[in-house]
Amino acid sequence: MARPLIADVDLDALRHNYALARELAGGSRALAVIKADAYGHGAVACAGALEALPAGRRPPAFAVACLEEAEALREGGIVTPIVLLEGIFEAQELARVEALGLWMAVHSDWQVEALLAYRPARPIPVWLKVDSGMHRLGFPPDQVAAVWERLSAAPAHATGLLLMSHFATADARDSAYFDRQLACMQALAHRLGASLCLANSPATLAWPQAHGSWVRPGVMLYGSDPLEQPSEASRRLEPVMTLRSEIIAVRELAVGEPVGYAGRWRASRPSRIAVVACGYGDGYDRHAADGTPVLVAGRRTAIAGKVSMDMLTVDVTDIPEAGIGSEVVLWGRSRHGAVLSVDEVARHCDTISYTLLTGILPRVPRHYS
Ligand code: PLP
Repeated sequence: MARPLIADVDLDALRHNYALARELAGGSRALAVIKADAYGHGAVACAGALEALPAGRRPPAFAVACLEEAEALREGGIVTPIVLLEGIFEAQELARVEALGLWMAVHSDWQVEALLAYRPARPIPVWLKVDSGMHRLGFPPDQVAAVWERLSAAPAHATGLLLMSHFATADARDSAYFDRQLACMQALAHRLGASLCLANSPATLAWPQAHGSWVRPGVMLYGSDPLEQPSEASRRLEPVMTLRSEIIAVRELAVGEPVGYAGRWRASRPSRIAVVACGYGDGYDRHAADGTPVLVAGRRTAIAGKVSMDMLTVDVTDIPEAGIGSEVVLWGRSRHGAVLSVDEVARHCDTISYTLLTGILPRVPRHYS
């Protein structure tokens, strides 16, 4: 029998979450961010499931980080437009961008120079990235008009001005910084007659005033709620990935006996400890504290002891039916119907769902349903 650990990917849940993003977007177009292998879910499978939706309900574009990710999608048969969120990393990539019919963000002067020096046979649509306050990538707002003047003089790239920017605090309840970024972008759009693409998942879920022409959600498509304070809409998200394993051994421990490396967890009562076939060698976070929730046979219990490379240990003292072969859900939906959100697990690991989902390693097979 194969090692009992799989990442079950529920493509119906993905389609449900995308439909929710579209509903919230209203009149805005909703692209689907599927970078980092669709946040660990498998980009070709996820894009294929969304692309197969009926016309009018499927994403008008996908977004990835780089050319290699777009190439993998095209090789997998995906024909929908794809935006490169970070554009090109070297000028030579432009020929592939053109050949694959990609769209690209432009955030730096050297990319503008590369585009002006390139003579494509068909236009490469560009989205100008503005630094409205994240202070990562993008042109300062006061340079945008001049950059666009140069680019639009090259007819090959003049496909209309679309300005992108990324919010630093859209997930927070305090909107002061968010409002400042939004006001900056709205003023620019007004002055230059530009369309806007600003909203990540939290802004798609919680800030309709920021929806612009396009929204750009990622993590919500996979069922994770990025908001500091869940909303009515975010409660409708469905988990897409279930990280599912089984108990492979059970230990009976006397009071005071430790479990695992450094004996971090000690039995405070006579205890039953289940050994589960999942560890940090699979991408499960080694920072998971004692008390990190898991579902065993559909019932909540918790991690007891440090996570090892190939296994972790769970307290099943209060789940007498748990034994070798019992289902263990590290996050997602149990066959018994219970749900454990990846966001809750992330809080116990002092991280965010994004790192847990993208961190699941290739040795964990993805199963699609
Ligand atoms: N847009 C950009 C430029 C991003 O970098 C990301 C993700 O990091 C997204 C959109 C999607 O963000 P989220 O997953 O929070 O929806």
